[in-house]
Amino acid sequence: MRDIISRFAPAPTGFLHLGHVVNAACVWRETRARGGRVLLRIEDHDRQRSRREYEAEILDDLAWLGFAADEPPVRQSERGDIYEGALDRLRRDGRVYACGCSRAEMERAALKGCVTDRLSTAPAGTVAQPFRAADSERRYPGTCRDRGLTEGPGLGLRVRLDDTVERFVDLRHGPQEQRPSAQCGDLLVKDRDGNWTYQFAATVDDFVQGVTLVVRGDDLLASTGRQIQLARLLGRDEPPQFLHHPLIMKSVGQKLSKSDGDSGIRELRAAGWTSEQVIAHALSLIA
Ligand code: GLU
Repeated sequence: MRDIISRFAPAPTGFLHLGHVVNAACVWRETRARGGRVLLRIEDHDRQRSRREYEAEILDDLAWLGFAADEPPVRQSERGDIYEGALDRLRRDGRVYACGCSRAEMERAALKGCVTDRLSTAPAGTVAQPFRAADSERRYPGTCRDRGLTEGPGLGLRVRLDDTVERFVDLRHGPQEQRPSAQCGDLLVKDRDGNWTYQFAATVDDFVQGVTLVVRGDDLLASTGRQIQLARLLGRDEPPQFLHHPLIMKSVGQKLSKSDGDSGIRELRAAGWTSEQVIAHALSLIA
């Protein structure tokens, strides 16, 4: 039996909202039920959007809610050496290439019909309920794959993926099959502004921190196959277990976002709610 280590991994790009509370409640509940430990990871890989003020408020709200991690928090912005080391390994394997494509160029290519893949992530019948993330996902068509660009400022970095089918058993949805190279194409690991991407930083951290249980929302179900593949390329023998829980939806297809400002824990605290009421209310919204 592996030790159970999970994590709560908020991005400090806004205040804590009810969607985070659902996630935290699921992380702590599922982990404690298995006798495991919870790590707290501040996912501030996006240097332009992350703010220390948000981080401080998130930590304060979490403490108020009673979600206590078992180790001091780590910040992705302080883990650059770890990511460089992981990238070096992929580079040695000939997997890394520089990419000059901007989001706008990729949008234009898609409009011209160069990018046609808009795939669902699992064959019909393998998921218990519909999920959305993959529907709006665009596949990187591989424009720079064989251009041999020299790495440098203003260029992103991508990792060549193999055309594999990744199979895993989600603890809630059951057996899943995903084909990352067809879903998203070669993975961006560093963007053109020099930021590590979520997919890369989270995968490296889950590996290096020994995370064995990932509990997160259904919006990330479609990312799991690519994270499993990337972790294997980084030398991980056994992927974590995954559990994807329902999201709070404002209306059909519209995920609650912290920038909405209408579900802030700050506001509920100020209005006199107790932490128990906030958690119960958040969970009632997905029930
Ligand atoms: N920082 C990510 C988020 O806030 C966490 C994703 C994950 O749990 O893998 O959505």
